Amino acid sequence: MDDLPADWIADAVALRQDLHRHPELLFDLPRTTGIVAQTLRAWGCDEVVEGIGRSGVVGVIKGRNAGPTIGLRADMDALPMSEATQLPYASQSAGKMHACGHDGHMAMLLLAARKLAQSRDFAGTAVLVFQPAEENGGAGARAMVQDGLIERLGVERILGLHIMPGLPKGQFATRSAGIMAAADSLRITVTGKGGHAGRPETCIDPLLVCSHIHLALQSILSRNLEPTQAGVVSVTMIEASDNEDTIAPQAIMRGTVRTLDEEARDLIEARLKAMVPAIAQGFGAEAEATYLRDYPVTWNDPETTEFFANAAAKITAIDSDTPPRMISEDFGFYGAAVPAAFGFLGMGDGPGLHDPNFDFDDNLLPTGASVWLSVMSCNT
Ligand SMILES: [Zn+2]
Ligand SMILES: [Zn+2]
Repeated sequence: MDDLPADWIADAVALRQDLHRHPELLFDLPRTTGIVAQTLRAWGCDEVVEGIGRSGVVGVIKGRNAGPTIGLRADMDALPMSEATQLPYASQSAGKMHACGHDGHMAMLLLAARKLAQSRDFAGTAVLVFQPAEENGGAGARAMVQDGLIERLGVERILGLHIMPGLPKGQFATRSAGIMAAADSLRITVTGKGGHAGRPETCIDPLLVCSHIHLALQSILSRNLEPTQAGVVSVTMIEASDNEDTIAPQAIMRGTVRTLDEEARDLIEARLKAMVPAIAQGFGAEAEATYLRDYPVTWNDPETTEFFANAAAKITAIDSDTPPRMISEDFGFYGAAVPAAFGFLGMGDGPGLHDPNFDFDDNLLPTGASVWLSVMSCNT
C-alpha cells in the first residue's frame, strides 16, 4: 500500500465520488463507461476495448515478464432507488443510486491499473474487466462472456472483489466452493373460479389455493432437502382480486429461490413443479409453476481461491472460510467459462448493501487496489 502515491489515492477518491454523484443503470452507462475508458487510456493501459457485452469496457496491461492472463473484474451499474444520505456527492439522478459499492469497485480497479501500467512489475497480462448490468437480473457478466470476453482477451482465470458491510473493516474474506447463491425466479399461476365473496360455495378461491401452496413450498426445504444443504424459497408477491368483495378467478404468486449447489437447485425445481399442480387439483383448481434460472451459484474454484487468498494475505487480514451468503451475484457466469474466485472486502459496521444510507468507504480504496496489485505480483 506504501507504493501508492497520496496524490493518486486522492485522484481515485475524487473519481469515486464523481461516479457516485452520477449513477447509471443496467447496460445504459454512457457517462460511466466514457470515464472508465478515458481513465484507462490516460493512466497507460496498452489496449482499451469498449462495447463488449453491449457496454462493457476492458483494459489490457502487459507485465514485464511472460505469464498467465488473468481477469480482474469490477461492476459499473447502480440501483433503481433513491439515495437518503446527505453527502455532498450524493446522487444527482432521482431514483438512481450507487448503493452496492460499484462506484468503489471501479475506483479500486482503476487505481490498481494506474500502478500496473506505470510499474509493469509483474508477469503475464492483467485484463481489467468493467462489466455492466450486475444488478436487477441484467446478467452483464453473461453478456460479456457470450460476446467473447474470455476467448478474445485470452483470459485464463478471473477474480472478483465486492465490498461487504458487516465484515471487519479491511478484511478480505473468501471460501472455496459456493460463496453466493444461485438466484432463480418463481411464478405460479393458480386458476380457480371467481365470484361474489359472500358466496364462496359458487367459487373456487385461487387465493386459498395459494395459501396452501405457500405453506407446502416451505416443506421442500424442511423435508426434501438434505438438512445440511442450503436453500431458500421466499414468496414475495401475491396478486389476485382488487376488490375486497370479489373472489378473483386467478391468482399469481411470485418469489425467489436461492441455493448453493446445482443438486439442491434441481431438487427444489422438480419438487415444486410436481407439488403445485397437485395441490391445486385437490381444490378443483389448476396451477402451473414457471421456474426461471437467473443467476448461477458464485462458485469458487479451490485452487484459484487459494491463489486469491494468498495474494490478499500479503496486504490485509484474511478469512479463507467465510460463511456463504444467500444473496446473489452474476459473477458465476465467468466461473462457468474459466476458473474463478470471488472475495469480499470488509467495510465494518454501518448500513448494508442496497440500503438508501449506504456509502462506499473511501479509506478502503488503497486496500482494494493493493489486493489487485498483489494478485498480479503473485501471478506466475
Ligand atoms: Zn447489489
Ligand atoms: Zn454489488
